[in-house]
Amino acid sequence: MKHRSWAIYLAVGALAALVAVSHALQDHSRAVKTVPTSRKIIALTFDDGPHPQTTSPLLTVLEAKKARATFFLLGENAARYPGLVAAVAAAGQEIASHGYRHEFPNRQPREELFADLARLETLLAAVGVRPTLFRPPGGGYNDLLVADLAARGYATILWSVDPRDWERRSAASITAAVVRGAAPGGIVLLHEGDCAANTPAAVAAIIDRLRAEGYEFVTVSELLQYNENQP
Ligand SMILES: [Zn+2]
Repeated sequence: MKHRSWAIYLAVGALAALVAVSHALQDHSRAVKTVPTSRKIIALTFDDGPHPQTTSPLLTVLEAKKARATFFLLGENAARYPGLVAAVAAAGQEIASHGYRHEFPNRQPREELFADLARLETLLAAVGVRPTLFRPPGGGYNDLLVADLAARGYATILWSVDPRDWERRSAASITAAVVRGAAPGGIVLLHEGDCAANTPAAVAAIIDRLRAEGYEFVTVSELLQYNENQP
């Protein structure tokens, strides 16, 4: 009898511990694809920059349209083009981390990934930015990685709309795909670089089309504040 009640206590205790752990993971360590909200807000994001072909045109479009967006900068490119990093910061756009070398972080030893994150943090400190959002290159992630990143001070950000702009698609085709996929709380995945040369033109059209539908453009950090499922 005594043994059986001990077994029950142990089972209940183990279950409580499991629930506590899963709550902790949910609260602090969930990769974000979209933010639950009824407001018509959406976040444009640009990966792989800064880049001489796209960063300045993107900043010009965002400035002309008075829209905010989030740049997930790559460390190697930030090191090559510090002037463009400074330009993104000076324009008041959000700067986030896409790692240093475009390695898939779920295949990278953790110490190596964290050293890479620190290298980009050092570069960004020069423009007064400490990134708190990380987008895994290739979208490679798992729950443990997301939890470790949260402990390291980063929310893992994915996306809900992927127009595959890096496939050298036309501005019209990129725009159509984003307008089709847009929804409140959405995160739009766009890119910088030679392969995404039409993206700045697409962004101008995307902002016009979605604004006509009543959308506001916010940074990812702002978007996260509108999570209606948060207590
Ligand atoms: Zn990338």
